[in-house]
Amino acid sequence: MSLFFVKKGSETPSGLTVRTLTSCYFMSDSFKKSAPKICTSPIETILCLDHKQSMYCQLLTGLLQRDHVVSISSIFGSVLARSIKFLEDHWNELCSNIRTGCLSDWITDPGCRNAVSPILTRPNPELADTIEQICGNESWEGIIKKLWPKAKYINSVITGTMSQYISLLDFYGGGIPLVSPSYGSSESTFGINLNPLSNPYDVAYTFLPNMAYFEFLPVDKDGEEKARESNLDGVSSQWSSEMKNANGNVEPVDSANVKLGQYYEVVVTTFAGLYRYRVGDVLKLTGFHNNSPQFQFVERRNTILSIDMDKTSEEDLLKAIGNAKRHLEPLGFVLMTFSSYAETSSIPGRYVLFWELKFKERNRCLKLDAKIMEQCCSIVEESLDFTYKSLREANKIAALEVRVVKHGTFDALMDFYVSKGASINQYKTPSCIKSEEAVKVLNSGVLEKFFSPKTFFLS
Ligand code: AMP
Repeated sequence: MSLFFVKKGSETPSGLTVRTLTSCYFMSDSFKKSAPKICTSPIETILCLDHKQSMYCQLLTGLLQRDHVVSISSIFGSVLARSIKFLEDHWNELCSNIRTGCLSDWITDPGCRNAVSPILTRPNPELADTIEQICGNESWEGIIKKLWPKAKYINSVITGTMSQYISLLDFYGGGIPLVSPSYGSSESTFGINLNPLSNPYDVAYTFLPNMAYFEFLPVDKDGEEKARESNLDGVSSQWSSEMKNANGNVEPVDSANVKLGQYYEVVVTTFAGLYRYRVGDVLKLTGFHNNSPQFQFVERRNTILSIDMDKTSEEDLLKAIGNAKRHLEPLGFVLMTFSSYAETSSIPGRYVLFWELKFKERNRCLKLDAKIMEQCCSIVEESLDFTYKSLREANKIAALEVRVVKHGTFDALMDFYVSKGASINQYKTPSCIKSEEAVKVLNSGVLEKFFSPKTFFLS
C-alpha cells in the first residue's frame, strides 16, 4: 500500500508546465503502467487532485486488499503519520462503506468513483467487523501490523527532519522495521540505503556516482557558518590549509577525496544543467561501499533557530527534543510532531516549541501535568549547547516555552503550506518556522503554554 499524491502544475509565462518532481513521476506513462502491479491504490485515486478524496480512497482500497499488502509506503514519514491520523478520524465511515459495499457520497471525483467500484464490489460485513474491532481498540499500538497482517516493513524516509516521526511510526507499526530507502531531491537522486534494516538513527546512504556529478564542500557540523565564505559563495578561516585554495577559500572536493567523519554540504552538477548547485543539506561521511562514499544525513543548512549569538542547529534541536520525549513516553504520551520558532517580539527573545501530543490510549483526554511539562522545557534547555546556556544565564535569552497544540493543528500547517504551493508528497514538516503566517496557524491551535522554570544552567 503506497500512499502517493499529485499536485496541480502551473504554467510559466512562456507556456511551459511546471510541476513537482513526484507529480511528474506519478503522471508519467511508466508509473501508470507499473502502478497496478506495485500498489493497492488505483492510479485514478493517486491522480485525484482533491487530497482528502484521494487519501480516503487510497486507504479504502488498501483496507479492501489488506491480505495483499506486504509493505506500507509513502515518500516521507510525515505523510504516513498524517494518513494514520486520517484513518483515526475516518475508520467508522470506511467500515460502513465496506459493510454496505457503497462508497460515501462526498467522494465526487469521477476517477476515484470509477476506480474504487471494481474493488468495492459487494457488501462485506465480515471484513468491516474485523476492521472495526481492530480500530475500536483502546490503544492503536501496532495498528499497521493488525490492519495489514502481511506487511513486512514500513517504507518511508525517516531521516533528517523526518526522524521526529520514528517513535510514532514505531508505535503504529508494532515492531515491523522502518526502512528509509533513499536520499534524493528534485535536482537528483543522491543515494540509496544498502542496509535497509539498519537502525533508523544510523541510516547511511551510499551515493550513486552515475546520477549526477557530486562534490562536497567541507563544513563544520552547523553547516552554514563555515560554508558561507567559500568561493561557491563562501569559506571559513578555520579550515586546514590542504582544503583551501591559493585565495584562502575552502574548495569542494570530489567523491575520491572525502574524509571519514568529516561534515560536508553536497554540491551537484546535473545532467539537466545545474552547475555546482548547493542543495542545502549537511551530511557526514560514515563509510564507503567499494569506492562510493556513504553519508548520514545531518540537517538542512538553513533550519537554524537563532537569538542573539546563539545558533541552534536542526540536529541539536532534534536531539534536545528527543531527550524530552524520552521523559514523556513512559508516562503514556506520544509526541506526534513538533516545530519551533524564535519569538523575538519581546526582549529578551525565547525559543518557542509547538508540540502536538496525544495519549497512547486513544480515548484518553489529553490532560497535562504542568510540572512534567516544565521538566520537559528544562530538559530541552539543558540539552542545548554552551552558548545557549550562557545566554540564558546572562538573561539574553528568556525561558524556553512549549506550546501544546490541539489534534489536527499540524495538519492545518501542512494544508497552509500546500495552499502556498508545497506538494503533499514532498512536504517536510519544518522543524523551525520563519513565516509569521505559519506561526499564526500553529498559534490558533494552542491549548496550553509551559515555560522552563530553570534559571541557572552553568552553576
Ligand atoms: P525537494 O526539495 O522537495 O526536492 O526535497 C529534497 C530535500 O528533501 C533534500 O534536499 C533533503 O533536505 C530532504 N530529503 C530527501 N531525502 C531525504 C532523506 N533520505 N533524509 C533526509 N532528508 C531527505
